[in-house]
Amino acid sequence: MSLTRHDQHVPLDYFSSLLLKTIHDAIIVRDFADQRIYLWNLEAEELYGKSAQEAVGQHYTTLLQPRSLSGPADRDEILGREGEWEGELSQIGSDGRPIIVHSRQTLLQDQNGKLTLVLEVNRDLTERKRLEQDMQGYVQLATTAGDLGLWSYDFIEQPEAVISYHEVPNLLPAGIPVDLTHYQKLVHPADWQPSLTAVEQAVQMHQDYIDEIRLIEPDGKMRWLSVRGRPMYDEQGHPQRMLGVAFDITERKRMEETLRASELKLRRLVEANIVGIAITTLSGQILEANDIFLSLVGYTREELQAGKLSWRTITPPEYQQTSEQAVEELRQHGICKPIEKAYVNKEGKQVSVLLAATRLDENTDHCICFILDITERKELEKQREVLIGIISHELRTPLTAIKGNIQLAQRRFHRYIQDRQTQSSLTSSSIAKIEVSLEQALRQIRVQERLINDLLESTRIEDGTLTITRQPCDLLHIIHETVDDMRFINPTRTFQLEFPAQETIQINADPGRISQVLANYIINAFKYSPEDSPVRVGVIIEEREVRVWVQDEGPGIPPEVQPYVWERFYRIPGSGGQNTSSKSFGLGLYICRVLIAEHGGQVGVESEAGKGSTFWFSLPR
Ligand code: ADP
Repeated sequence: MSLTRHDQHVPLDYFSSLLLKTIHDAIIVRDFADQRIYLWNLEAEELYGKSAQEAVGQHYTTLLQPRSLSGPADRDEILGREGEWEGELSQIGSDGRPIIVHSRQTLLQDQNGKLTLVLEVNRDLTERKRLEQDMQGYVQLATTAGDLGLWSYDFIEQPEAVISYHEVPNLLPAGIPVDLTHYQKLVHPADWQPSLTAVEQAVQMHQDYIDEIRLIEPDGKMRWLSVRGRPMYDEQGHPQRMLGVAFDITERKRMEETLRASELKLRRLVEANIVGIAITTLSGQILEANDIFLSLVGYTREELQAGKLSWRTITPPEYQQTSEQAVEELRQHGICKPIEKAYVNKEGKQVSVLLAATRLDENTDHCICFILDITERKELEKQREVLIGIISHELRTPLTAIKGNIQLAQRRFHRYIQDRQTQSSLTSSSIAKIEVSLEQALRQIRVQERLINDLLESTRIEDGTLTITRQPCDLLHIIHETVDDMRFINPTRTFQLEFPAQETIQINADPGRISQVLANYIINAFKYSPEDSPVRVGVIIEEREVRVWVQDEGPGIPPEVQPYVWERFYRIPGSGGQNTSSKSFGLGLYICRVLIAEHGGQVGVESEAGKGSTFWFSLPR
């Protein structure tokens, strides 16, 4: 190593001991007064990318443009005064890029005191600085992207220990240390002591401190933090600090709680044993079931837990297809609407059930099924079918026979009277009495017939077995025939007809059904209006529809109950009707409404109390 300046010689021994010690650092010796460089070692050559030849004799400040990053800025002044300067410098390398160094500068004087030199020993910090910067970048990224809070806790500084949080929004601003007492105020009182104990334990055991604590915001809102800290020790093993991270788990906690609450609700529902509930897989396994379900199928909980129960094996063959459809529905839509099916219980008996199910989530094939035992209802339905059969055959058939016989008797009696008019032994009053009795018997039979028919008809509507056969027909003809029938049944009543000029009104309908509706309106008019008042029947032709109406001079129907007269089994309270044939179920108008709706038409009534009623129905043309 040369210690020569272009014009002077400097004694080497003066520096040798120092130089040897710091051989791995860049060493520059310069004249304190004129800044000229005397010495430039190999490390300096490498660090600044300039050879000693190029550097020696140059002006130090011009060459390296040093700038203080730390330590006092007025370096030369301090050197002159104190003989030493230490700090971080930014200097410029040969390619113009900044070089960060830790620099120690010492003032040296030669023996005769003529020359004052500065010995500068520089350690390259550029790489370390870059790493530091990178680290900071990573930390910032992690804290913002991962919503992570950073904290440190100083054991040595106690009791004024500070927790320095990176950030807990609204509560702990980033980078501002909080002292322990302030921090304590934020922590939920119940969590404070346990968290201190946990920290102590972690320190003793040389383990991480792992905790969940609640912080209370000024407005009382609670925030859950998941906290993890790592104790740091000095060389003697004394705890120094704890470095930690924290993240907000409020949302997760809230979800856990909602989940727990809904699980609890579900459990309640299952255990309430109101309906049968089973958790099953789509493939068939019954994983869980409540008591109701178990007693329905007759298996024990032990048998269920042994995994013996599959809904496929307890489903009878005739319901397999229905079940498969339900499974398909569950696969596609996540739910299956109520279906009726049956299970074979352990004793081999079939139990009818109503089943609805929903998938528990999309990831598993687990379903929750709700099962209602409808065996009793099914039994009742069967009984009802039997009853309907009895009504239609055992009651109606003899009634028809009786009616026929009475009508036959009437005719024979008439002929008998006519044949023996003069030599009759019967007095005219006796004849009249027999005729009246026969007529009354017939009327009672008609009433009964109508009641039975209404019952059957409404049952058919409920079962969906009502049949309507439409065909092109003449509405006027239907009305005339019906009115004639009604005249025949009730010869004492007068009719007033208001028909349009047309000869025919063509419609597409079931003539028998239309006649049935009109007859019902007319019979109601008979029932609910005085004997001596007329019944008016009319037709109005409109652009798209035709309207048939029946008007009576009865008591009328108050507007508030008008909508109800079309309902099943509804009768206006106290409306006894005018005569004995008024016994009824309140089914007639209901049947009329359904029949007309089936034809695509409408029904209605216009009436005021005390002013009679006008019932109408419309049919599309
Ligand atoms: P019901 O067989 O009892 O007559 P409906 O369904 O035919 O049953 O009629 C329902 C109720 O509407 C009747 O009970 C009666 O109270 C009332 N109602 C029906 N038609 C008339 C009418 N023309 N005048 C007054 N009230 C009527």
